[in-house]
Amino acid sequence: MGRKLTPKSWPNNAKVAVCLSFDVDNEAFLLARGETSPTTLSAADFGAQSGLGRILRMLDKYKIPASFFIPAVSAVIHPEQIPAILKSGRHEIGVHGWIHEFLPALQSAAEEERLLNQAIDFLTKAAGKRPVGYRAPAWAFSEYTLPLIRKAGFLYDSSLQAMDEPYEIVANGEPTGMVELAIDWTLTETPYLGRSGTMPNPELLYQLYRAEFDGAYQEGTMFLLTLHPHVTGHRAPMQQLEKLVAYMKSKPGVWFATGEQIAEYVKKTAKEAR
Ligand SMILES: [Zn+2]
Repeated sequence: MGRKLTPKSWPNNAKVAVCLSFDVDNEAFLLARGETSPTTLSAADFGAQSGLGRILRMLDKYKIPASFFIPAVSAVIHPEQIPAILKSGRHEIGVHGWIHEFLPALQSAAEEERLLNQAIDFLTKAAGKRPVGYRAPAWAFSEYTLPLIRKAGFLYDSSLQAMDEPYEIVANGEPTGMVELAIDWTLTETPYLGRSGTMPNPELLYQLYRAEFDGAYQEGTMFLLTLHPHVTGHRAPMQQLEKLVAYMKSKPGVWFATGEQIAEYVKKTAKEAR
């Protein structure tokens, strides 16, 4: 971890930057590990069939942007997803692996680079714009990932977790210029919901996210949430997410932005401060 990149002020003197991000995994992470159960795959297909549409309708209702990190194979299986995400003109598409491959297990820089470039090329074509944001599948870097995403020219990464505000990644003691928009296992829903989840009451999700948002608001930094259409797209968690969005919308000085917009802004202000 390098220097903190939270700026002295956000655009329009906002008190906090909010980035809602969605990892559109659907079946990709199951196929990557050879899962063939139609039942298991159908529960992931839910993300494409029901979850994503619900999320997009909610974002449209509040007219807010979000960042969608997509394994290319998820878009191959469901080609309607990227056009649906891009329709409003507010959202960002980011890279989330070729087939949600677990990078530490590949143990090959060449194979990792091949899959990365294949994913970038596919998403560039499908979205009509080269992605600038990267999130590692399963949020897991290998020893090759940072050099490879630097070489590929990404503006920012969103896989590491050393702070709950934007920071610069350092490699071998040298600043890389790569912006990190950090995530966290408490700021996602998968540990609480789904097959191995232990959430007794979906209301608790709202309480957790709201308390994190309130803290980021007080500190004047960033609140970044990472959710999955095949999990959060269900009715009960959607209610909690919408409640959270309505709460954040009710506060003055909240800048809803994509990861790209936040990364560009903090990079620019850090440069000016030098
Ligand atoms: Zn994922």
